[in-house]
Amino acid sequence: NADVAMYQAKARGRNNFQFYAPSMTGEGLERLRIETMLRRSIEKGEIFLHYQPQVEIDSGRLIGVEALVRWQNPELGLVPPARFIPLAEDTGFISQLGEWVLEQACTQMVRWQEAGFVVPKLAVNLSVRQFERGSIAAMVAGVLHESGLEPARLQLEVTESVIMNTGDALQFINDLHEVGVGLAIDDFGTGYSSLAYLKQLPVQTLKIDRSFIKDISTDANDEAIAVAIIQLGKSLNLSVIAEGVETAEQAAFLLRHGCNRAQGYYYSKPASAQELLARWGRRDERNLIAAATG
Ligand code: C2E
Ligand code: MG
Ligand code: MG
Ligand code: MG
Repeated sequence: NADVAMYQAKARGRNNFQFYAPSMTGEGLERLRIETMLRRSIEKGEIFLHYQPQVEIDSGRLIGVEALVRWQNPELGLVPPARFIPLAEDTGFISQLGEWVLEQACTQMVRWQEAGFVVPKLAVNLSVRQFERGSIAAMVAGVLHESGLEPARLQLEVTESVIMNTGDALQFINDLHEVGVGLAIDDFGTGYSSLAYLKQLPVQTLKIDRSFIKDISTDANDEAIAVAIIQLGKSLNLSVIAEGVETAEQAAFLLRHGCNRAQGYYYSKPASAQELLARWGRRDERNLIAAATG
């Protein structure tokens, strides 16, 4: 505890060398160093987005993209979000980062459209800490207004734990719903959603966690869970998308069981906005026609 360390150091005398010793272990220093670098990452231009296609399995059509944040630091290299999102959450930097991600992604949707490439939907991840700070709906509405993206084309992803562990989650989610954006539950099946609670939420989409997709054709339990989630989606009138689809067999399994939406390396790894335009932008004539007429 920093305050205790400070108190002890003061008690020992101002110029006491040990001021730093009690709490600043090598690991603590390293963490502080990374946190400091993270806090400056946006202004230094080290943060950028990749986008991963979401596809309709039977037609192969692009139905949307998920924005995924990346941090490229000269010293640390490419840091995966699983490493820096928790740090950003702990330090409160996540509010700034989350807003930046949303702005970039919404603006990119409009730019693609101007280039004749209409991506139907944009999915953006929200962190629990963004909920705790309140006024998230106002932030989202502001970013949509600034970028010019229609609210209905944005889908915000929250994990089950966010919904179940945030006191005012229902209120926040209702506020977002009123802004007109869609909501998806990410990593579905890994948390502890109460089904009764799920029914009350204005959520449109369940994303089957990729851990259940991985061994779908060899592990009977995973298979049963995936099928149960697809059925649950049907009964609650929610759309279901599978994450982490890596093989044709997995895609075929999903289609056979009534899930026609997928995201995963089988279709595309997350890629830059330019790569996405190059690879998907000319593929679907209907996209071009829609852009030309609308
Ligand atoms: P997520 O939202 O569940 O995103 C899907 C993750 O699965 C991404 O990892 C993606 O690259 C990876 N993935 C997609 N298809 C496949 C596949 O076929 N096989 C395998 N093995 N992996 C696949 P990524 O980009 O490393 O992101 C990890 C997590 O970090 C995300 O999980 C999300 O929870 C978080 N995250 C990423 N960007 C943001 C952001 O802008 N804000 C917040 N709050 N969290 C973010
Ligand atoms: Mg996600
Ligand atoms: Mg997920
Ligand atoms: Mg995840």
